[in-house]
Amino acid sequence: MRKACIHTLGCPKNEADSDSFAACLAAAGWLITDDPGSADLLLLNTCAFISPAVDESLEAMEQAVEWKASGTGRRIVLAGCLPGRFADDGSGGLEDFDLIIGPADTRGLLSYLGPSAGASRPILENRHFRYLKVSEGCSNNCSYCTIPLIRGPRRDRTAEEILLDADTLAVQGAAEIGLVGQDTGAWSSGEGGVSRLLEVLSGRYPGTWFRLYYVHPSHMLPDFLDLVRNHRNIMPYIDMPIQHFSDRILSRMGRGYTGRDLERMFSEFDRFETPLAVRTTVIAGYPGETETDFQMLEDFLARHSCIRTVAAFPYWPEEGTREFERKDPGETVQDGTVQSRLSRIGDVADLHYLQWGDLLEEMELDVMADSPGLGHTVFDAPEVDGACSLDRYVAPGTVVRCRIIGSLGPDLIAEVV
Ligand code: SF4
Repeated sequence: MRKACIHTLGCPKNEADSDSFAACLAAAGWLITDDPGSADLLLLNTCAFISPAVDESLEAMEQAVEWKASGTGRRIVLAGCLPGRFADDGSGGLEDFDLIIGPADTRGLLSYLGPSAGASRPILENRHFRYLKVSEGCSNNCSYCTIPLIRGPRRDRTAEEILLDADTLAVQGAAEIGLVGQDTGAWSSGEGGVSRLLEVLSGRYPGTWFRLYYVHPSHMLPDFLDLVRNHRNIMPYIDMPIQHFSDRILSRMGRGYTGRDLERMFSEFDRFETPLAVRTTVIAGYPGETETDFQMLEDFLARHSCIRTVAAFPYWPEEGTREFERKDPGETVQDGTVQSRLSRIGDVADLHYLQWGDLLEEMELDVMADSPGLGHTVFDAPEVDGACSLDRYVAPGTVVRCRIIGSLGPDLIAEVV
């Protein structure tokens, strides 16, 4: 049987696309393998939203070409954000790629694979945590972001499509399902939005954990805390990229909310009756960011105990974005300042890990096993956040009650009780 291997770069949203690509390949009779050495086809699902991601994708392309040259009859499909962002300029170098398709272009893949390929449902995978896409693209048009250029405006999937995929994932044994999209909270195809969708999913699969990713602060679910309170399998966790706190910078970024909005939301998270973990990302060194702006961001991050993980990225000027077009060199933050601000955010992040470590010590928590000796708690997304080491073997996907006995940075140490 012909075998295909998928290599995914980037974030969980790309993982969800890769699931769909895998479904197309399986429907066309290909066996999916993790081993490129035994594969006849390699699908490279790239990322390209900022320059470092572009570089990583280009490197993976070079490796793919080497892989093709080292065997006979091998094929490569180049997919995802890199071809979505940059059109082939005809200067060569892409001859080794048998098919080039944009992000989530399952139709393009299906038509290449031929008439035997009929479906693009998520398929057999033995990974116990999976991602379920609620929408494609983004309509927020933040000043610095290439995603709307690459993936287009937001298109919501219908509730029926999402539930059908959830059924498939559940049948395949998904123990945890993460809802993803560029702007998950904005999903509005069904009555009651994402809240209702989560409620339905939670009731339909009571044994499955549901986790919410990529919630834009302007589209926060108004009743999220009630959902967490009333549904044990909706994780007390929210992934909410805030990017900044200073109104001046937020407005320049075109984010559509103010520091006051963030303050209100995060204070509510802090006060929730049980711990609620927030994962967030911020940009340091945005054009025009003064020490005062940055200090406001730093203070905000430091004063909210709900923050379990904060990741900081430097600003990257990306061609095609509004911020790039402004091009005012006088507003560029010097590299040394950016690095020092990134490191200051790193210090705040470490402090939060310490505080969370203290908070969770001696607590009994549900932990889902991921691999021998390792798992993740309800407060951490698998593969994205910290891991939890377990004192005995537990089959992947199984949830066990554990006592937390220590921590090291983002990681926790637990014993099964
Ligand atoms: S919300 Fe803003 S940063 Fe996020 S994908 Fe959409 S445009 Fe980009």
